[in-house]
Amino acid sequence: TMPHQPPPIHTGAQLIAHSLKSLDVRIIFGIVGIPVIEVAEACLALGIKFVSFRNEQAASYAASAYGYLTGRPGVCLVVGGPGVLHSMAGVGNSMANATYPLLLLAGSAETSAGPTKGAFQQLDAVSLLAPHTKFAVRPPSLEDLPRSIRDAYRFAFYGRPGVGFVDLPADYIQGVPKEVVQVERVEEQPRILGDERRVMAVAEALKRAERPLVVIGKGAAYARAEGVLREFIDATKIPFLPTPQGKGVLPDDHPLNTSSARSAALAGTDVVLLVGARLNWMLHFGEPPKWSAGVRIAQIDISPEELDRGTTDPTLSIHGDITSVIPQLKLHLANYHHLSSPWSNTLSASATKNLAIARAKASTPTNPLTYHRTFALIKSALESLSPGGADNLVYISEGANTMDISRSIFTVSQPRQRLDAGTYATMGVGLGYAIAAEMAYNHTHEATPSPSSPPIRKRIISIEGDSALGFSLPEIETMSRYRLPIIIFVINNGGVYHGISDNTPSWGADWWDGDKQGKRRDVLLTSTALGFETGYDVVAGGLGGRGWKVVDEEGLVRAVREAWEHRDGPSVVNVIVASGVGGRLEFGWLGKGKGGEKEK
Ligand code: ADP
Repeated sequence: TMPHQPPPIHTGAQLIAHSLKSLDVRIIFGIVGIPVIEVAEACLALGIKFVSFRNEQAASYAASAYGYLTGRPGVCLVVGGPGVLHSMAGVGNSMANATYPLLLLAGSAETSAGPTKGAFQQLDAVSLLAPHTKFAVRPPSLEDLPRSIRDAYRFAFYGRPGVGFVDLPADYIQGVPKEVVQVERVEEQPRILGDERRVMAVAEALKRAERPLVVIGKGAAYARAEGVLREFIDATKIPFLPTPQGKGVLPDDHPLNTSSARSAALAGTDVVLLVGARLNWMLHFGEPPKWSAGVRIAQIDISPEELDRGTTDPTLSIHGDITSVIPQLKLHLANYHHLSSPWSNTLSASATKNLAIARAKASTPTNPLTYHRTFALIKSALESLSPGGADNLVYISEGANTMDISRSIFTVSQPRQRLDAGTYATMGVGLGYAIAAEMAYNHTHEATPSPSSPPIRKRIISIEGDSALGFSLPEIETMSRYRLPIIIFVINNGGVYHGISDNTPSWGADWWDGDKQGKRRDVLLTSTALGFETGYDVVAGGLGGRGWKVVDEEGLVRAVREAWEHRDGPSVVNVIVASGVGGRLEFGWLGKGKGGEKEK
């Protein structure tokens, strides 16, 4: 056979495509239009996949999640003006999460158009995006496109991950380059070692601690630090607590995992080491009453600006890469391990108590369905259907109660197998993330660049609140078009938080039909209400997928089985749960829940 000849470079569009190819970009997420359609076509001609979405918002979320899962920036291509505005959602989300690297490329009006000409979709995107990205540039010339694209790509994941942006004027895309600059692939960033004195200080503090704790954040997942952290925890026997996306870096069933005693762990620890986690709202800022007033907080982070912000101990702050600092720390703790102590007993007593409560909630049959019972049934059905059990399942989750309650029920055993609304609590990310996961795990295999061959197929499971799903609903069509066998569970309580009502235990069909005394109208006008039993399953059918509506346990289990068998496109299981149940009363993540703190 003839060796494959790459198409020659005649246009700016081809120059852009070749630059992306040289950077080893395998897939692009986006929506085309004038003028970027030629860029997408040139990429396809080079064998780069292009996943075409219905809204740039979802495309930008998907690209950044692809970056999280693969450790290299995900690429998003959009049109100018409104396309850029819609992808601002993904830009903000990427920057807020600090572990979701994104390269955004957007078309724009030709350079000859003055700023006020009113050209097609004209927007000064560089000025708009500069404060919200790590790097935003319009290349100084058409010939400079390759260098600018490489710079933006590099900025997106060197240092703390974030966003790089390149503006692509129409005349560059359609123009003829006078010369062709070849760019090189960007290598992995150098692994920064920690300052030895600081590492020693942290080791000493941990040795002297009575109640040490390691918090594992999604920075550790992003850094692929699972190997070094496993060795560190196994050797030192220090209990650990994963954050929501830190789950799976070490398996949830590891004996030193304190997830089931989260409150006790946070309140009790006297020396804690944060590994790729920030002291933001999710960790209650490191402040009382969730933490004890005297706690010493050590931290490892790749971003020096993140250190010593007030609550952490400046002498215990280490700037460095987790994958190099943890082994350094392990050397200093060579002869140490934390002995089983009152601390371990406190944690396990608390875990036993909480697990018993959770188990009772999950094992009690309910009608109408509750969150706990629904998740327990889905989990056991999926794990028995999955050939590799839980190892082959990747969970995406968003919503308030849906995300909050499912987090502790769907345990994970491997890193980067659970994505959720994240630091920004962004609703609408779920379907884009699911598509990104499907691509990264099962199509490009960039999420698992291991020698294991053939790569193990992962089933992507998206657990969505009914409100959260609505933000990106048309992307079900995207999943259908690419025949992605994603299974979506919609936990439908008729709205935001507690849904239609938090004081009426369940709504019967008679009430609904009756509209007695105008009550129905009033209830639907509350701010949290959404359409009662909205037919997301019916919508799925119309968008090329398959749908099931379930109202009871038997129907749910059957639907899981049938959805599992449907491998030619997306499945949507619309689970009607009691509205009002699991509402305000159970929403505990922000610490505002009534009746005590819930465990994660
Ligand atoms: P979580 O939400 O799980 O608590 P955060 O998003 O708050 O996690 O924190 C993640 C942190 O990880 C960020 O501060 C980021 O700078 C840091 N980080 C990302 N990559 C690395 C790395 N390779 N080494 C050290 N820290 C990292």
